[in-house]
Amino acid sequence: MVRLPEEGERFRGEDPAEVLECEQDEALVSLGPVCYDLMVTPVVGDELLVKGKVHCEVVFRCSRCAQPFAQKVAEDPYVRTYALQDETESVDLTPDMREATLLAFPAYPVCKSECLGLCPKCGKDLNKGPCMCVPDQDARWGGLDGLEI
Ligand SMILES: [Zn+2]
Ligand SMILES: [Zn+2]
Repeated sequence: MVRLPEEGERFRGEDPAEVLECEQDEALVSLGPVCYDLMVTPVVGDELLVKGKVHCEVVFRCSRCAQPFAQKVAEDPYVRTYALQDETESVDLTPDMREATLLAFPAYPVCKSECLGLCPKCGKDLNKGPCMCVPDQDARWGGLDGLEI
């Protein structure tokens, strides 16, 4: 690593998606590179302060309707400190950025919070309109209760 000026130095760039070592998953369609924009500042007492943002563009498969959608996964602000043994030591920021990105992944990705998902009977994407399936029985009989005979 280059020696840092006292006021710190800004590092911007991207790491290829491979650094995430993501396992292939049904919910994961594709991964973009890990983009970072970080200010690295030396702190008194041989510490490095790393502050900025890290994000990754990911295409997930919606856990409700199974449609792919892009979502930005980010840790913002991203703040880490590193203790240095001596000032010639270099610091590899990749493992921490990788971990931060993976932790920011949603457990159940949904394309939008109001996603209607698929009909459990016919599998139609209900975001595109209602299907012809009859609603379940309880709801039907519930409706009849209101009828005056
Ligand atoms: Zn959806
Ligand atoms: Zn249906």
